[in-house]
Parts: sequence; structure tokens; C-alpha cells
Amino acid sequence: MSQNICPNCQLELEWQDGKYHCESCSTVFIKKAFCPDCEAELEKLQACGAASYFCNSCNELKSKSRVRIQFDKA
Ligand SMILES: [Zn+2]
Ligand SMILES: [Zn+2]
Repeated sequence: MSQNICPNCQLELEWQDGKYHCESCSTVFIKKAFCPDCEAELEKLQACGAASYFCNSCNELKSKSRVRIQFDKA
């Protein structure tokens, strides 16, 4: 299940060349994750095939279900 939605047109984004691309508004987005506790930008870690997020500020892993995902214009 994908939840990568364009903030402009609410349409599903396409994964392309390491970025997210919206066909409808021709905009490229970068996915960013923010810490639910301190609002710092999280580092995405790829471990055992599953992505997890690490907060350098809290110095701990954050559950994927709790992180705040934001799409910024590239
Ligand atoms: Zn769009
Ligand atoms: Zn944090």
C-alpha cells in the first residue's frame, strides 16, 4: 500500500530516479521524514529490507507509524 500523495493535486506520486514525480503537475518531490517528538529531520535506514527512521537529535529509532512524512519540492 502506498501513501505517496502529491501535496498539490492529491494524486499518487511516481517513483522515478530516486525521487517522487507527479505527472499531473510535473513537479518532482523529495520525501522527508520528521521526528514526532522533536521535529528534527530523520535519517532513513534500510535494515533487513524494512525501512526505519533514526533521529540524530533524540538518538533513537522512531517507529515508521509515528513519523511525520512530508513531500518537499525538489
Ligand atoms: Zn501534482
Ligand atoms: Zn527526535
